[in-house]
Amino acid sequence: MRKRVAIVGGGAAGFFLAVNLKEMCPEMEVTIFEKSKKVLAKVEVSGGGRCNCTNSFEAVTDLQQVYPRGHRLLKRLFKTFDHRDAYEWFERHGVRLVTQEDNCVFPMSQDSHTIINMFLAEAKRHGVEIRTQCKIESLEQLKDYDYIAITTGGGTASMTGTPVIDAVPSLFTFSIEDEALRALMGTVVEDATASIPGTKHRATGPLLITHWGMSGPAILKLSSYAARDLHDHNYQMPLAVNWTSSKEPEIQQELQEIIIRHPQKQISSIRPFNLPSRLWDYLVTKTLGERAQNRWQNLNKKELNRLTNALCNDQYQIAGRAAFKDEFVTCGGIDLSAINTNTLNAKTLPQLYFAGEVLDVDGVTGGFNFQAAWTTAYCVSMAISQLARCNQSPY
Ligand SMILES: Cc1cc2nc3c(=O)[nH]c(=O)nc-3n(C[C@H](O)[C@H](O)[C@H](O)COP(=O)(O)OP(=O)(O)OC[C@H]3O[C@@H](n4cnc5c(N)ncnc54)[C@H](O)[C@@H]3O)c2cc1C
Repeated sequence: MRKRVAIVGGGAAGFFLAVNLKEMCPEMEVTIFEKSKKVLAKVEVSGGGRCNCTNSFEAVTDLQQVYPRGHRLLKRLFKTFDHRDAYEWFERHGVRLVTQEDNCVFPMSQDSHTIINMFLAEAKRHGVEIRTQCKIESLEQLKDYDYIAITTGGGTASMTGTPVIDAVPSLFTFSIEDEALRALMGTVVEDATASIPGTKHRATGPLLITHWGMSGPAILKLSSYAARDLHDHNYQMPLAVNWTSSKEPEIQQELQEIIIRHPQKQISSIRPFNLPSRLWDYLVTKTLGERAQNRWQNLNKKELNRLTNALCNDQYQIAGRAAFKDEFVTCGGIDLSAINTNTLNAKTLPQLYFAGEVLDVDGVTGGFNFQAAWTTAYCVSMAISQLARCNQSPY
């Protein structure tokens, strides 16, 4: 008897799972059910239309930094299929890749359609049936299938009856109501640290000032680490920025050295840590008011301390969350304690598998979310094909 597999969701995880299953078990009957007219819609828009499909992981020292949720599960699954395997897989399937200086991996064509076309061609070649405009609302609709894989992305897992961690947004930018700050839009600080006072959430990296507040990798990472706290506080929380990523004593020392070297110069004219001049002007004016026009030698001890504080602990109030158009994921999904962590099937319903963003696994920007989709989908295809080959019934 040919085994039948239903894949619910025609996104990145669904297609990766379908193609791998057919490669491992060509005799298997695989059908993808997609609720919308179009498959792989997120792949198309991903990475600004270029699809940042994985990462070299060269800068990753701790998986928790890039996967705030699901890092333990992924550490285990990466032994089976990691970023190197993904890189090799795509190249083997005709998608030439390139690794950027920032470790992000893109198709050499710089076009997400290269990946979409490959998936569609592979699915066709293997005879995967694709049923679009076919929303699955209950598992009852799939009772004729031997195995069911749920790859429905963020926020749509309730129909399976498997425990779910409430989904909330991750990877967004902060709205900050400070007109003088917003006037600096376009300013980038290469090495800033953003944190939420009173919590352990902190993230380092480039920070971009926008016309609505703050964005850039440091802010996006922070939004991911603090996704649930921010949601629970209705996106109204304090924010502290260290514009230098240096410690307070180092900042004091740098300012003292400027006083010694440039006593006659105006404070605004000599920028510590090579900060962008518009930002330095803003910080000096905010901190010293009318005395911003003073010379460095006239800076008194109190003012020196206030300037140091403005550099390493500059306080703002997050006033809301703004969309980040390049990437957006949900934090939450299928509770990992409800599934078997090697095979990703439900403990209570062994023929039911999960892969991709539907799981309570999510990463920061940089190709980590697609990598989680490839890895989990691959592991599900392995688990199903091993069972099918051995003709073992999961029931
Ligand atoms: C704008 C944007 C840009 C992004 N860029 C990147 C990037 O460059 N790099 C990166 O790593 N990540 C990126 N991401 C995140 C990445 O797209 C997701 O992590 C990834 O798509 C998850 O894949 P998935 O297959 O699990 O879910 P999805 O890609 O969301 O696919 C799920 C599919 O299931 C379908 N579906 C849902 N419910 C049902 C149902 N009941 N019945 C049938 N079908 C259903 C949906 O219509 C959808 O097609 C981006 C996300 C966005 C929104």
